[in-house]
Amino acid sequence: MKSKVFILYTGGTFGMKESENGLEPSTWKEIIEYLPAIKNQTYFNHFSSINFTFDTLEPVVDSSNMNPAIWKRIADCISDNYNSHDGFIVIHGTDTLSYTASALSFMFENLSKPIVLTGAQLPIFHPRTDGIINLSNAIYIAGYKRFELTCIPEVCICFNDDLLRGNRAIKSSTNDFEGFSSPNFENLASLEQRIQISENVLPIPEGKELKIYPTFSQKVVNVTVFPGYNVAALQDLVDNKKIEGIVLKTFGSGNLPKDDSWKQLVQTCEKNEVIILATTQSANGRIEIGQYAASNFLKNPIVANGKDITSPAALTKLMWVIGNFEFKDRIKMLSKSLRGEISLYN
Ligand code: ASP
Repeated sequence: MKSKVFILYTGGTFGMKESENGLEPSTWKEIIEYLPAIKNQTYFNHFSSINFTFDTLEPVVDSSNMNPAIWKRIADCISDNYNSHDGFIVIHGTDTLSYTASALSFMFENLSKPIVLTGAQLPIFHPRTDGIINLSNAIYIAGYKRFELTCIPEVCICFNDDLLRGNRAIKSSTNDFEGFSSPNFENLASLEQRIQISENVLPIPEGKELKIYPTFSQKVVNVTVFPGYNVAALQDLVDNKKIEGIVLKTFGSGNLPKDDSWKQLVQTCEKNEVIILATTQSANGRIEIGQYAASNFLKNPIVANGKDITSPAALTKLMWVIGNFEFKDRIKMLSKSLRGEISLYN
């Protein structure tokens, strides 16, 4: 069967070349010369019955420059081509790839096609590049019809030989080809000699119309608590209503120092409608408010329980919820799973 795959190049190490200032992104025209499988020059012409559309998001960037305006441009590009393609690939720098994947997962409601983000630890021009295998694997997922694979109707990250749920992934290594991991959720697929898809964890599309919620508030902060943390600067932001939300990365399973300054902060947040999304700073596991006396401050209606959400997903979700929905709905939305970003617990 034929497949139509849309590939959007946004930058990142995948397409970078040495310059006087260090690695800098190059053009798709140069990159494609290094992708024999796409140019159908290989012995196995597996991609010959895929119709590719290539597009570049100008200017291509190191992904440290990503921001909500660019997330929206990526989403617009996908939605403009949504009906005419079976799957989408976004080539992206690894540094903020998990943020973009999370952001896209929240932006699109009722997704019924795969959006696969990928990148590379070594540029496509390097003899040991991981870019070719990463992109080839992504093409199998986005072009699933051609390979008679199950459709994975969600935003995912294809890296090395793993396919991860986008809003569950973190960049866990700057060096390993296995650059991403999904600490609290099983992988969606493994792409070894055989491609094995974990069908039981995939969402089931309800056939509803695709909706896009494109706005992200930047009036948020990401705070990691540490022994001796001085709350004064944060209190000032809340007192003066300079922010509308805090991702609070607490100790362990939701704990904070037993200190009046924290108590006061939470009370002011309640008064000034500044949402606290409580998460853990541990790499793995979830928070349980009330398990220890040290998490008592968080038993407050202004606090949303992030459970086992990752840091990039927590931040993008908070920005997105504040950007698109009324205050009265926000805490509830943050405390439950909207796109599979939080595990269900009894
Ligand atoms: N700095 C690069 C980026 O995020 C790193 C990479 O792509 O691996 O664009």
